[in-house]
Amino acid sequence: MAAGVMLLESSVSMVAPHQDPSSPLFLVNRSYRVSSRYVPALRETQVPGQVRRLTPEAATAMEELFHACLEETGITLISVSGYREYDKQDRIYRRKLKSVKGDQEAADAYVALPGSSEHQTGLSMDIGQRDSKTALGEEFGTTAGGIWVRDNCWRFGFVIRYDLGWEDITGYAYEPWHLRFVGKENAEKLHDNLMPLEEFLVLERTQILLELMVPWTDGEKV
Ligand SMILES: [Zn+2]
Repeated sequence: MAAGVMLLESSVSMVAPHQDPSSPLFLVNRSYRVSSRYVPALRETQVPGQVRRLTPEAATAMEELFHACLEETGITLISVSGYREYDKQDRIYRRKLKSVKGDQEAADAYVALPGSSEHQTGLSMDIGQRDSKTALGEEFGTTAGGIWVRDNCWRFGFVIRYDLGWEDITGYAYEPWHLRFVGKENAEKLHDNLMPLEEFLVLERTQILLELMVPWTDGEKV
């Protein structure tokens, strides 16, 4: 009986969403928000551009990605926006809400509600290509730099978080410039499976549940 309770408790914690916002698989979207008090450990990423703070692990991985892109293609990437604190997102959202005369639905279509932006985790960075006017535009996905990033970011532990055709799942429009750090092992799996983080987490939890169910169906634990 005690073993059964323990098994149940461990299975619940294993299939629950990743609770720690510093986890590379922590989910942030319009449904799952980060606490307003959450501030990650950060460091300045040593790459060209602005707003360059990320978590130390993501910063190192991003530096590797920038170096590899320059080495393999001769293209210099730039940071456009890394870590963004809750209060700044709140100010951006309130400004938008005011401009659409308090219409929350209209505001939500343009700006992430405070707490629902991955930028608050320090695991995401918006990037562009230097000497190009495509920063934060869909056209970035068609530039040589954007294509290289799309094909190679998984090698460094990143994914294109809001890919084309995933809008209904992620809740965000196509953003070829928004990279999310998930760690190398996870990025490779996400790349191989061509699926958004939301689906990957469901798959991961289903597999854990199936593994846990095996002894129960054997009839040994019931
Ligand atoms: Zn972004």
